[in-house]
Amino acid sequence: MDYCPKCGKRMIHMKKKNNHTVTLILSCKKCGYEKKVSRPNFNNTSNRNHRVEKLIILGEKEQKRQNQQSKEIVQNVIMTKYMLG
Ligand SMILES: [Zn+2]
Repeated sequence: MDYCPKCGKRMIHMKKKNNHTVTLILSCKKCGYEKKVSRPNFNNTSNRNHRVEKLIILGEKEQKRQNQQSKEIVQNVIMTKYMLG
């Protein structure tokens, strides 16, 4: 899964018609960012699977990082409340 480099939202695959050619792109619905997608190389299946695995691991890491961030925000709110009495 690819994420938008501008706003971090999940990007979706879309087909864009350009004259007579159809280009596969990744599009962000939130900010309209578009990225060309290079066609996957189906001859090299093992390498492709490896890449997908790596992306999933990266995604999980990113999720953990975001959870950690939200925990820190909650802690800050509690601290602020405590300090204000
Ligand atoms: Zn975006």
